[in-house]
Amino acid sequence: MRAPLSFLVAAFSMFFIGATTNVIAGENLDAMKEHAAKMFKKEVLKVGDNVYVAVGHAASVASMIIGDDGVIIIDTTQSIGSAEGVLESFRKITDKPIKAIIYTHGHRDHISGTSVFTAEGSNPEIIARSNLINPLDDKNLKKVGPYKILQKRTIRQYGIKGLEPHTEKVSMGLGPASINNKGLGKGFVAPTRTFFDDNMEITVSGVKFELYKAPGETNDQLFVWMPEEKILFSGDNFYQTFPNLYAIRGTVYRDFSVWADSLDHMTQFPIEHLVPGHTRPISGPEANQALADYRDAIRYIVEKTAEGMNKGLTPDELVSYVTLPKNLTEKYYLNEFLGTVDWSVRAYFAGTLGWFDGNPTHLFPTVPREKAQRLANMAGGEKVLFENMNKAVSDKEFQWAMELADMLMLLEKYKKEATAVKITALKALADQQRSAIGRNYYLVYAKELAAE
Ligand SMILES: [Zn+2]
Repeated sequence: MRAPLSFLVAAFSMFFIGATTNVIAGENLDAMKEHAAKMFKKEVLKVGDNVYVAVGHAASVASMIIGDDGVIIIDTTQSIGSAEGVLESFRKITDKPIKAIIYTHGHRDHISGTSVFTAEGSNPEIIARSNLINPLDDKNLKKVGPYKILQKRTIRQYGIKGLEPHTEKVSMGLGPASINNKGLGKGFVAPTRTFFDDNMEITVSGVKFELYKAPGETNDQLFVWMPEEKILFSGDNFYQTFPNLYAIRGTVYRDFSVWADSLDHMTQFPIEHLVPGHTRPISGPEANQALADYRDAIRYIVEKTAEGMNKGLTPDELVSYVTLPKNLTEKYYLNEFLGTVDWSVRAYFAGTLGWFDGNPTHLFPTVPREKAQRLANMAGGEKVLFENMNKAVSDKEFQWAMELADMLMLLEKYKKEATAVKITALKALADQQRSAIGRNYYLVYAKELAAE
């Protein structure tokens, strides 16, 4: 009886921890909608004298710098359709030929519209770090053993299929709810000029650029500094929402300390305009402050999580142990509209110590179905779990309802009813999320269950 009892205690303590952090439904959803309206409004913003940033056109932003006899493009969006929209907007401003394209990193949403720009025939130089990889490129993706589930979870995270834009899907966390995905991931063109360790200084059409190695969200990341205009393009090491230190679609560990060091490097420039890989630019003294706060938030998570780990805390305990200080949580760009502190804490644990939480009970745990059956027997039958699950729904304790539903879905008797309750709970929890990707994940998963 020891195992089921300890499980029961663990399950209840999880519930109470969850209950203390619950928020009033609606508050987070409203904040998420406001963030989307503010950050992803479709327009081309003029930054400095000769730089134009297309926001709200695509999953990522794309920028154009106008030089003497040509233009330079930074990042090319996630699809051919979105890149066409960006180019159309840019061509209203200038008809100068494209001389160079810079990739900040190899994520699909930054490199997949390039063929639209090269199709103009100006034969631009394409510049990137030499370790540029596109993990969602079909060829690279299939090198990952569980690529099918990675694709499925990516669809859930971004609500790529099945969600109604603006009602169900508020945003992608880092981009608008509705984007043109014609030719998704299809327009990549390989770099023609690369660097790895050393910085690269280039002058294109009379405009000076300094490119710096900046591992963080990905290992192939760089940032671009325009010394004369004092504009910094951060790639995805910064955007105006809490960093995606862990992507719930599934990702290898993104080295937190290395990411923070790259942010620290960026803070050393006297920035007048900061252009992130997603969301709107930040101008004035707030630009350097934002990068410093981002760095400090990541370093705080590292230090505090490690401190808790050294006390023997497990991931489920660490998520309530680590809370960011108020001087950071009050910053708009550290709102958890994309990544969250909880998921980051868990990722730091897994990234540094791996899957084992240190408790030997979990080295060879009871399999979930057997655990559910034992718990049902102990409670007095599956009917008791079923009744408790229904009570949890009427008490609006949706996380607990979902945990009981998971157990009943493993047992046959109330499988259908439990599935229906899980769908209800997922939809209710979706409305309570602050993270847009959390919301999308809940809603797409609910649709998958309904379709079974
Ligand atoms: Zn991105």
